[in-house]
Amino acid sequence: MTTKMVSGSQEGIVKAVRSELWKYGRKIIESGLVVGPGGNISARAGNVMYISPSGYAFDDVEPEDYVGVDISSGDLVDVNENKKPSSEVLMHLACYRARQDVGAVVHIHPAYGIAVASTIGRLEAMFPDFAAYVGKVGMLGYVVPSSAELAEAVERKIVDYNAILMSNHGAVTVGANLKEAFYRAVILEEGAKIFVLSKILGEPRVFSEEDVEEIRNLGAEKYRTQLLKQSRQA
Ligand SMILES: [Zn+2]
Repeated sequence: MTTKMVSGSQEGIVKAVRSELWKYGRKIIESGLVVGPGGNISARAGNVMYISPSGYAFDDVEPEDYVGVDISSGDLVDVNENKKPSSEVLMHLACYRARQDVGAVVHIHPAYGIAVASTIGRLEAMFPDFAAYVGKVGMLGYVVPSSAELAEAVERKIVDYNAILMSNHGAVTVGANLKEAFYRAVILEEGAKIFVLSKILGEPRVFSEEDVEEIRNLGAEKYRTQLLKQSRQA
């Protein structure tokens, strides 16, 4: 997304970012990753982060309702009709400040992810997509939502992980763009669901470090080719 943005005008870039946010907000609702007005998402447009407005469900906002916040200063720079940024604005800013490669942040309240984070406190890869796209999951104990303390805790973790599970709260995923951050969120929740189901049936076999490395070393493209080959042989 960032590369595309350089060539267009700032206005066009912002319009594109707002429309992507609107699209992925709806996808998050459709995927059941939040209920009601829970969760928030953001995307980077140069030095500005566009974030969902506070107090609205994703299917209750229009593209222009996403609030522009200067990443360095935290000042509101592009606001429609007195909308306020999500209460987790500090947590989102922390992700962009910690990593230049982060182009989007997704924060959700997924049922299985919260259950695993609040009981077992760890989630490992059990299937190839998880190993390839999510990898290791950072775990955080309970910290009061919307607090500066939570933003600091996320900032420390996000340096090493693309996905974080927070006890008694939810998950944060980051990506180069919204598509990547969203896929990570979906696969993370699928992983938590599979882990919970496996726990009901017995002791789950999770991937070893070697299993994960092997899949990651295949590279995304190689990995897809391999899967296609396998399905043709089957
Ligand atoms: Zn939350």
